[in-house]
Amino acid sequence: MGAYNPYDNVVAMIRDAGEKLGYKESDYVATMYPERELKVSFPVRMDDGTVKMFEGYRVQHSSSRGPCKGGIRFHQDADENEVKALAAWMTFKCAVVGIPYGGAKGAVKVDPAKLSRGELERLTRRFTAMIAPMLGPERDIPAPDVNTNGEIMGWIMDTYSMLKGYAVPGVVTGKPIDIGGSLGRAEATGRGVMIVASEIMKKVGIPMKGARVVVQGMGNVGSVSARLLAEQGATIVAVSNKTGGIYKESGLDIANVLTFLDAQKERPFKEYNESGISHVSNDELLTLKTDILIPAALENQINADNAARIQAKMIVEGANGPTTVEADKILQKKGVIVVPDVLANAGGVVVSYFEWVQNIQSLMWDEDEINKTLSRIMLKAIDAVHEMHTKHNVSIRTGAYMVALKKLVAAKTTRGIFP
Ligand code: GLU
Repeated sequence: MGAYNPYDNVVAMIRDAGEKLGYKESDYVATMYPERELKVSFPVRMDDGTVKMFEGYRVQHSSSRGPCKGGIRFHQDADENEVKALAAWMTFKCAVVGIPYGGAKGAVKVDPAKLSRGELERLTRRFTAMIAPMLGPERDIPAPDVNTNGEIMGWIMDTYSMLKGYAVPGVVTGKPIDIGGSLGRAEATGRGVMIVASEIMKKVGIPMKGARVVVQGMGNVGSVSARLLAEQGATIVAVSNKTGGIYKESGLDIANVLTFLDAQKERPFKEYNESGISHVSNDELLTLKTDILIPAALENQINADNAARIQAKMIVEGANGPTTVEADKILQKKGVIVVPDVLANAGGVVVSYFEWVQNIQSLMWDEDEINKTLSRIMLKAIDAVHEMHTKHNVSIRTGAYMVALKKLVAAKTTRGIFP
């Protein structure tokens, strides 16, 4: 990410929302700083007997509205400023949808594809032990993020529980079902993307039937979004992963694509067979003519270099931070509707919240109840953000930040400042 500091952008967004709400800086200044940051270096024994050092981070951005909440990612490019920005986005995301959490994020600088399963498990367990003093169901609750999954959450739960001496399922969400995971959690982020996309499409008059959809990234978020939008009648014309993408004017056979990716999410699309497809690069994919573009990969994908060439009518941010600030301005001028990450991908943390509630109460909800409650929470948040956006004549992103900042300032004011 070079010299570019994503946390500076978060601060600029907060300041802008604060000014639009007519607040004084001292009303919201606390939301401009992360509450607590931990950087750790730790050894892992590799399969060949050597010892390798790794660096990791956990940042708690805010606990004003409840325990800190947010995923852990494993990525070779992770750095402190990125994790700080991701933690702040979690604070705003939880406030937008009105669940009782603050925000946090963690990362280990590592390419997990280069580790064996044993090395991955040892790295996860040692990292968990290093950040354990910050964690706990009432303190800070991790979850999956880029390159982490249910199995890894299971190792985190087990490591934390071993340190405590008793099972603590509520310390982490996104766990496998048999150790306290929630039904519906695995597909919750993609389901939320589908709900938000279809609601905003209704509001701006894009019919779902036959709507053209392009998805960048076919990990958990992208693949579920593509499947659920296809089920709603949309036509998925292009998808991609790290290896590049595929495009078909009349619409891809999404069931076939998902079967192809079943064993390996980053399987090269060059090996994919379907009549009428052409191969595209990730950059070409982002600039295809489409109704809806869903960036569901990493940050900064839509940037000053490609924003002017974007042909989508609407962008629904499945990933966190896929659009840079410069790109956002260009898109706004072009009239592209951008549905921001803090609303569009909030479905994951909403069902994480359900998982935590079920863990604390030691009971299980059925999937239907989970999906219905998720829908209810998302629809309420979409309406609140949309109202703010139209009432103040601001972008949907600014509207979402304003909805969230109001709740954060109210919580801070009601609690007061200690001591
Ligand atoms: N990592 C996901 C996100 O960015 C989920 C966080 C959670 O469930 O705590 O929203």
